[in-house]
Amino acid sequence: MNNTLNNLQWPDAGRVHLANVNVPRGLLDPSIEPAGCSGLTRVDLVLDQGTIAQILPAGSPTDGALVDADGGQCWPTFADLHTHLDKGHIWPRAHNPDGTIDSARTHVRADTTHYWRTEDVEARFEFALMSAYAHGTSAIRTHLDCYVPSQERISFDVFRRLRDRWAGRVELQAVALVSTDLYDDGRNAALVGLVQESGGLLGGVTFRLSDGDDTQPLDGRLDRLFGLARARRMNVDLHVDENGAAASTTLAQIAQAVMRADFQGRVVCGHCCSLSVQEDAVAARTIGLVKDAGITLVSLPLVNQYLQGRRPGATPRWRGIPLLRELQAAGVPVVLASDNCRDPYHAFGDLDLLEVLGGGIRLGHLDTDLAEWPGAITRRPFEAMGVQGGVLRVGSPADLVLFRERSHSELFARRGAGRVVIRHGKRIDAAPPDYRTLDHLFRADIEKRTAP
Ligand SMILES: [Zn+2]
Repeated sequence: MNNTLNNLQWPDAGRVHLANVNVPRGLLDPSIEPAGCSGLTRVDLVLDQGTIAQILPAGSPTDGALVDADGGQCWPTFADLHTHLDKGHIWPRAHNPDGTIDSARTHVRADTTHYWRTEDVEARFEFALMSAYAHGTSAIRTHLDCYVPSQERISFDVFRRLRDRWAGRVELQAVALVSTDLYDDGRNAALVGLVQESGGLLGGVTFRLSDGDDTQPLDGRLDRLFGLARARRMNVDLHVDENGAAASTTLAQIAQAVMRADFQGRVVCGHCCSLSVQEDAVAARTIGLVKDAGITLVSLPLVNQYLQGRRPGATPRWRGIPLLRELQAAGVPVVLASDNCRDPYHAFGDLDLLEVLGGGIRLGHLDTDLAEWPGAITRRPFEAMGVQGGVLRVGSPADLVLFRERSHSELFARRGAGRVVIRHGKRIDAAPPDYRTLDHLFRADIEKRTAP
């Protein structure tokens, strides 16, 4: 059989010779000799019984049912390090009238109280998994709101059930999202126990809004958080400095707390927007501390350009993202992720990491160093999650995303429309689910009033 990606019928064969693919250089086993230009290496892949059996120079003799990609790109499947699958898709009944983060918080809290029963959370959560899977994602970490009393039982129960149901398709992790003072209160040991027995991570929100805020209480809370995480052998994933206030320097405090505790677990800090509005010397010192502490930084470009810089009737003047290029240049692992989709924190989004990466490239001027950035939705988030994946190497599962487009210019211009997703050597149905399948969760009159 001789197939091209133009009119692809993926062969129903145990051994497939996928010829002439362009792979971003950082996503290929480093032992493979680079061949090609623009940060892409052209190779042939031989897939056998669902794994990558060989990586050969492009144009090698055919070994298996042939699919000729004709230079189209081939990536490993994606990992989404920071999402909120419990909140997703509530937009028809919970919108955001002024687009601010304060309104988002208020409307989500009200929606949680009124609607977040098991059936509601599970339907929206699974819809999100179906979308992400169809776009080519094979690992997701979600934060789960634990603010409204008893919500944690419902949300972690849904998480565990869906983690089991989706095993082998999407690797799922969950983080408890709380205010960090929760770990000061011994009465909340039950929540920590629930998170631990669910295999989850400890999370929370840190920020400062003015120079007058005392930094000492947060130091104490962070010491207790990392002490608790170390005692229970749990990893930590925090929401950090999600604002445009130069005084918000809690990222540096977190890095220092990690080192004070000699914490050996994995630490991820998300958002960190305020880094971009600080004096160069302050930002450089913080970046150095983050590097020394071994923290992975995850930026949420689509959501933070949506939420940050909102002023009534005014156009935003800043982009809401942290200093992506400076962090990366300093050797900090930088990841890009989806964050919120179709909820009051972000009216749009579909858990498509290629859209996220394309947005990050445009917002952060990452196009001058494109070889580095495909790793931000593949290799680096897999490493941060401690999950195998994100690099094409012999012996790893044949979990691939194939694009007709050859160069990065072609790929990000068309945003990967028509991509082909291969899981364990087989092609999957790469169509996201129909929004109508969620209609039963929303009263028609509310939907009509709030649709954008
Ligand atoms: Zn978030």
